[in-house]
Amino acid sequence: MEQHVKHYCGIFGTYGTPEAAHNTVLGLHALQHRGEESCGITTGDGKHIHTHKGMGQVSDVFADASDIARLTGHLAIGHNRYSTTGSDNIVNAQPFVAECRDGSIAVAHNGNLTNTADLRSSMQETGAIFQTTTDSELILHLIARSPEPEISNRVADALKQIQGAYSLVFATENKLIAARDPHGFRPLCLGQLGDAWVVASESCALDIISARYIRDIEPGELVVIDENGLRTHTFASVEKKAFCIFEYIYFSRPDSLIFGDNVDKTRRSLGKQLAKEHPADADIVIAVPDSSNTAAMGYAEASGIKHEIGLIRNHYVGRTFITPGQGNRGAKVRLKFNPVRGVLNGKRVVVIEDSIVRGTTLRHLVRMIRDAGALEVHVRISCPPIVAPCFYGIDFQTTKELIAGESTVEEIREHLGVDSLGYLSLEGMIKVAPNAGRQYCTACFSRDYPIPVGDTVSKLILEK
Ligand code: 5GP
Ligand code: MG
Repeated sequence: MEQHVKHYCGIFGTYGTPEAAHNTVLGLHALQHRGEESCGITTGDGKHIHTHKGMGQVSDVFADASDIARLTGHLAIGHNRYSTTGSDNIVNAQPFVAECRDGSIAVAHNGNLTNTADLRSSMQETGAIFQTTTDSELILHLIARSPEPEISNRVADALKQIQGAYSLVFATENKLIAARDPHGFRPLCLGQLGDAWVVASESCALDIISARYIRDIEPGELVVIDENGLRTHTFASVEKKAFCIFEYIYFSRPDSLIFGDNVDKTRRSLGKQLAKEHPADADIVIAVPDSSNTAAMGYAEASGIKHEIGLIRNHYVGRTFITPGQGNRGAKVRLKFNPVRGVLNGKRVVVIEDSIVRGTTLRHLVRMIRDAGALEVHVRISCPPIVAPCFYGIDFQTTKELIAGESTVEEIREHLGVDSLGYLSLEGMIKVAPNAGRQYCTACFSRDYPIPVGDTVSKLILEK
């Protein structure tokens, strides 16, 4: 099903430097955690665009310096793609490029559209041919069909027809264009490096090239950068912001600013709030590295329980090592984590985890922690139970695959085989999230969907 092609990705763009391709490679390195299935870069040199993309991580796809050297030009966009099993296909790798009547255009997308099925079938009825099932291709079709003479107006035209979550960067031969959906589901920030402009999913991609964070691209904003400088347009009015709160919980890097606020600080606050809501009588607090590290520090600080490193993560485990399938999930967890026996032996342990999706990681980890001699295991989760799928770009697709979609906390505790289990409350999470008055999307925790999803999609929500 096409809505299964998720875009849970990292995007980057820069304008105004002969180092455009090189800086984009660095930016994609910093955004690697947002997707490691495929990546690619398109540059524009004023006359032509050039693209290089492939399956795998940035260090593999851009291993050969001559591939980067061929990406000439003063502007570039880049993409790291995360996809789910089955759609990890080179034809879906981005940037996606199209030849239109007055030149080339490339797009890189983070998010997920919710009205693609309808748009696609109405276009197919009038003869459109699609080569992929990606939202990105659909966006390019819409741009190509717009009667507007100006490219920025054609992009705005296309964006007015799509619904859902999107942070986008486009490259033409001589323009960099960036846009964010009117709800602002996914992040996108703007920076500067000397005279060059930079846009990126997360500010850590600005840091890596020593660019300065200027501000976020606003929900409903379209930015065009070319030889005349930067121009900003509002292509849609913002009724209700819906920043994805899961960016703070799991997805983004702690050293990034997301939605203008610090991820590290937010995760610590989540951990502190978790300690208030679910204290534990224990000797040590450990994190499931790396995504829970900062929340665990917050929990330890607020509870006064000693913070220890009880699990070591192997950073060299490539995805290629692991074939999909339930059968070898245990082996996958063992490849990735090893317990520190000297830390855990004889201890009552609080394990902080940022989230439980299917519950497989923790179930295996808990066994390993007990085998290493832990006397008690108390699991604390720095977000509420994930009860519902995300249709805006995060990889939870059906209620069926979510352990909390069907089970109570007590049932999950039993399934994990732990002495106690506590999740952060929805109210507690919102209370400590930055700028408490700001609107967040909490649909995966609350089933409160900011954008109604189509029939096919809502069937998935109800599917049990
Ligand atoms: P589970 O084993 O419960 O399915 O997954 C939970 C683990 O996956 C946690 O360690 C969490 O940090 C991580 N995680 C949370 N959300 C996602 C996601 O959308 N994709 C991936 N790959 N991992 C996630
Ligand atoms: Mg994790």
